[in-house]
Amino acid sequence: MSRHTEAIINLAHFRSNHALAKRYAGGARILVVIKANGYGHGAVPLARCLGDEADAFGVATLEEAVALRDAGIQRPIVLMEGMFEAAEMATVVAHRLELVVHCSEQLDMLLAVPLPVRLRVWLKLDTGMHRLGFTPVAFRHAYERLRASANVGEIHLMSHLACADEPGHPFVVEQLARFDEGVAGLAGPVSLANSAALVSLPQARRDWVRPGIMLYGASPFSGVHTIAAELRPVMTLCSRLIAVRDVATGEGVGYGQIWRAPRASRIGTVAIGYGDGYPRHARVGTPVLVNGKPATLVGRVSMDMITLDISTIPDARVGDTVVLWGEGLPAEVVASSADTITYDLFTGIGRRVDFRYRD
Ligand SMILES: *Cc1c(COP(=O)(O)O)cnc(C)c1O
Repeated sequence: MSRHTEAIINLAHFRSNHALAKRYAGGARILVVIKANGYGHGAVPLARCLGDEADAFGVATLEEAVALRDAGIQRPIVLMEGMFEAAEMATVVAHRLELVVHCSEQLDMLLAVPLPVRLRVWLKLDTGMHRLGFTPVAFRHAYERLRASANVGEIHLMSHLACADEPGHPFVVEQLARFDEGVAGLAGPVSLANSAALVSLPQARRDWVRPGIMLYGASPFSGVHTIAAELRPVMTLCSRLIAVRDVATGEGVGYGQIWRAPRASRIGTVAIGYGDGYPRHARVGTPVLVNGKPATLVGRVSMDMITLDISTIPDARVGDTVVLWGEGLPAEVVASSADTITYDLFTGIGRRVDFRYRD
């Protein structure tokens, strides 16, 4: 598109991050988490580029799963929140999907009518996140009902960690202990680890790991961690300078004049704003790259535009490429400068942004 506001998706980097996850996983299998349209990167091209390398894919909604099947993806697909209503059952069966079962309502839906196939189920234990999952007593009861049903094939046992992004957090160990107690004596593959636990907690790896964010090249940790150097950014968000001007000392730039030029400054205007998913709360001083050179955001983020101080890049011209995050500028840095996380940046990319896939 003529505005040149683009998300360039590097599929080779996605495969490289997947290979890294595989090395950390040891023998564990990998549920490639591509919910929310592959964390905003495009689930179908990502799923396709892994081919049979992917052990399974994880999505949040039936629509996401059907889109993958319609695109010819044959690998196992897990609905990570299970079914939202019984009417979804026919599609689950038709597309050979796997179901998380996290509550008694879902259990009843699954067992209500005889099915022509045995579905693989991921039974979820609440070990302390208190979002989804059965209490330990209800978990055993649910397991027995699933075991006794001809609708159910293999039963996976899973839980989710609340604090794995803070290595050393005492609640992680507590959740592992609750999990081991909750599943003791029950047969079936077990799964606990998101990206953060996969990288930092060998004792959480078990039979299946469920990495998401690390596959997209962003660190799963809230603080600094050496994994960042091993990951490769999959998305590079870029646009172009559409105006360049000089402003005098003391002039305000943008809505509300929240920034005033402390000295004579050159201002570059870029064709991207919160209407494209650039975070509105990005602070003055948030880094960007203009022709590969560092510059900073000044003034408020507008819907369609942002303004930069490009005083240190005298040769910058209208039409020059601006990188908002990705190659050369970690999304983690931008996220923290906007008081958010990379997950939020990636999934917030707007529909006006043109996606281009590179291999
Ligand atoms: C989203 C999700 C993951 C992946 O988490 P990351 O932090 O992106 O690695 C794993 N498990 C469950 C249940 C999830 O919802």
